[in-house]
Amino acid sequence: MSIQENLQRIERQLISTPSRLIAVTKTKPVEALREAYQAGCQRFGENKVQEMAEKHAQLPHDVEWHLIGHLQTNKVKSIASFVHLIHSVDSLRLLQEIDRQAAKHQRVVDCLIQIHIAREETKFGLSEAEAEELLRSSALPALPNVRVVGLMGMATYTDDQEQIRGEFRGLKAFFEKLKNQIGSPNVVLRELSMGMSNDYPIAVEEGSTLIRVGSAIFGAR
Ligand SMILES: *Cc1c(COP(=O)(O)O)cnc(C)c1O
Repeated sequence: MSIQENLQRIERQLISTPSRLIAVTKTKPVEALREAYQAGCQRFGENKVQEMAEKHAQLPHDVEWHLIGHLQTNKVKSIASFVHLIHSVDSLRLLQEIDRQAAKHQRVVDCLIQIHIAREETKFGLSEAEAEELLRSSALPALPNVRVVGLMGMATYTDDQEQIRGEFRGLKAFFEKLKNQIGSPNVVLRELSMGMSNDYPIAVEEGSTLIRVGSAIFGAR
């Protein structure tokens, strides 16, 4: 199957759902991104700052760049001028740095808070309690150049569909609860980033608005 066929197959599955596709292009050469772009894909996800900045310089300017991997504060400045959405925010300190760097470019940078929903120890992200504390922090409204627009989570890597479904359902429930409770000018919860190649159909059923799919489009890494 070609990149174009894979994109078309997934896009068909998203028709009449609120979910949009982010093509995860980490480790893939620029030619693969060009091929996807020519097939109509304008949303790319990368997990490393340096790689994203290099690819950004080589692709058309109407591409949306999504940072999906862990972000260190000292790396924010290389993407602040162009990043569309940062999916992996896990601290107030990081939000403060994104605000500072975004201000230099007169931008407001949209961010998601990454929530730890998997059973595995290795995955990044905050607990629900930590996320609530962050979203209720009195320091947040003082950051006019960031906007928290939702949550991101990665399910456990397993064949157990009910385990995965339960984790996505839990994240969706937390998202809905926060939507009703958090009122801050720069917190506007509307995006739920969940679902990867092996579990996106479940994520879509459970209310994902952004799926992050790599290998099902571009092949194994
Ligand atoms: C690599 C990656 C993906 C895509 O993974 P695939 O299994 O190739 O679809 C999605 N989200 C994050 C955070 C990733 O690092």
